[in-house]
Amino acid sequence: MSNKIHKKNQCLKRQGHKCLYCECELTLAMTTLDHVIPKSKGGDKNSLKNLVASCIKCNLIKANFATEAEVDEYAEKVKVMIRKAQEFLKNK
Ligand SMILES: [Zn+2]
Repeated sequence: MSNKIHKKNQCLKRQGHKCLYCECELTLAMTTLDHVIPKSKGGDKNSLKNLVASCIKCNLIKANFATEAEVDEYAEKVKVMIRKAQEFLKNK
């Protein structure tokens, strides 16, 4: 068994075979490993203290965010973009 599959199995077991976030039932094949602190931000790649089992959808949503402050900052940027597009298209 590869190390990655072993990690997935360990995470699935401790989470009762559910996605930590949306709590959908997970099979091994559906499971992704979410690095709670992303690898790109110095999070541990291998420690079970930084890994949770997640469905693909939730892992995509969580993306590379590490903190709530980063999510807030991102949301603010998107809000500005939406306002700008709405304003631009208003009289077109
Ligand atoms: Zn999920």
